[in-house]
Amino acid sequence: MRTIYRSEPPWPHRVLIVGGGFAGVETARHLERLTRGRSDVEVWIVSRENFTVFTPLLPEVCSGGLEARHCVTALRAQLHRPSSWAVTGEVTAIDLDARQVAVIGGDGEVHRLNYDTLVLALGGETATFGIKGIAEYTVGMKTLADAFALRNRIIEMLERADLETDPDERRALLTFVIGGAGFSGVETAGEIEAFVRRTRRRFYPKIATDEIAVHLVELKPTVLPEQEAAMGEYAERRLRQRGFHLHLGTPIREVREVGVVIGEDTFIPSRTVVWTGGVQPSPIVRDSGVEVDRAGRAVVTATMATSRAGVWAIGDCARIPNAERPGEFHGPTAQNAVREAKQLARNMVASIDGRPHDVRPFRYTTIGTLASIGNHTGVGKVFGIGVRGAIAWFMWRGYYWSRVPGIGGKMRVALDWLLNSIFGSDPVQLKVDDPRHPGAMGPSGTRRGPVRHVDPRG
Ligand SMILES: Cc1cc2nc3c(=O)[nH]c(=O)nc-3n(C[C@H](O)[C@H](O)[C@H](O)COP(=O)(O)OP(=O)(O)OC[C@H]3O[C@@H](n4cnc5c(N)ncnc54)[C@H](O)[C@@H]3O)c2cc1C
Repeated sequence: MRTIYRSEPPWPHRVLIVGGGFAGVETARHLERLTRGRSDVEVWIVSRENFTVFTPLLPEVCSGGLEARHCVTALRAQLHRPSSWAVTGEVTAIDLDARQVAVIGGDGEVHRLNYDTLVLALGGETATFGIKGIAEYTVGMKTLADAFALRNRIIEMLERADLETDPDERRALLTFVIGGAGFSGVETAGEIEAFVRRTRRRFYPKIATDEIAVHLVELKPTVLPEQEAAMGEYAERRLRQRGFHLHLGTPIREVREVGVVIGEDTFIPSRTVVWTGGVQPSPIVRDSGVEVDRAGRAVVTATMATSRAGVWAIGDCARIPNAERPGEFHGPTAQNAVREAKQLARNMVASIDGRPHDVRPFRYTTIGTLASIGNHTGVGKVFGIGVRGAIAWFMWRGYYWSRVPGIGGKMRVALDWLLNSIFGSDPVQLKVDDPRHPGAMGPSGTRRGPVRHVDPRG
């Protein structure tokens, strides 16, 4: 166990941000700007990975529309002051009384980081709701590793189906089930379907179109249930036209190695089940000792102050009241997180400088919502006007492209899109694990014995 002091006495006021997602990084960036030229405040950020994932573009990594590295930005590249520090490690405990955070670094050691002000920005993690088999047999869509693993898995299924002679097994290999029809579920399903069909046509001519099936399973009765009904209805119509199998108002009962049980007792044989059906706040928030709601999110005021002095919470791990609409809360979106960060930075500086009257509530009304449903189709509402089809898709792309950090990042994404639209995506499978290891294909496949007779000529 090591305690880390990086600066020298007299110690500057240290703001420690835990979590390097949209909320954490934007808070750090705004703090740096607001305290430019000051040596009495320093900003540290701790996160599991040394980069921030640009989640709205994550499903494009699994379809190969975007290179994996172009969907992330290094934490260190986003901090500019010499006194700022980005630490890569797992936050394992927070001691509010001692004002210390315990972090396990890549060296396996526990490092204790002291703070004066703490920001909880740990986001959420995949929730399984106790559904049997979710943890063991599904792939998520939350991290870069998820998107990378899913892409490899889809290609693995195409390769195996190409070699398979048993028609039932071929169908199971070519059946993709997505649990959850919210934003990430619909966007992921859209990308998978478009990628599989395009890749089949060009590289796997022995696979017939009707052997491929994409199922979208949603507990609520509509697609995009958190959005306005018109958006969900349009998305549903377009997805059905494209041949998606939609199971709305249908629970996933169990996921098995060889398929998924939905509704009353319907079994869908499938080797690839993607779970986007739920997110829960990081358990570290609940364990920290700040007041939390039933879901485990930090209960904060509209200024983002928690129940403990000097501790603030932001983003998906916080329940932030909507100052304009009493009784309502800001939703867990990237769009909200980056705006919350600006106000939070101002509030923290006001608080550090002893200006409590300048600590203000977060006020923001969403300009609009846009979702991509794949195949150059989108749906949304901007400034109260409904948009759909190719226009909505272009708006979606344009908006998120404009939010990609830095000129370099924007160029990389734009070039990926351009090259992909000219040359298409390829089925290169980057196996990063040892193929001789039994778990090498990921959790939801069945490995067969090494010798099989597949040549019909004998
Ligand atoms: C596939 C997908 C698509 C999405 N599309 C959109 C969209 O189009 N528009 C939109 O507005 N929102 C979208 N969202 C939602 C958006 O990504 C979240 O609302 C946003 O990321 C929340 O930011 P955050 O910083 O609070 O949390 P996160 O982005 O989850 O960041 C939390 C950070 O904390 C780190 N962390 C967690 N626990 C620990 C620990 N114990 N130790 C160290 N580090 C830890 C994580 O690694 C992560 O870096 C999408 C989400 C997904 C998954």
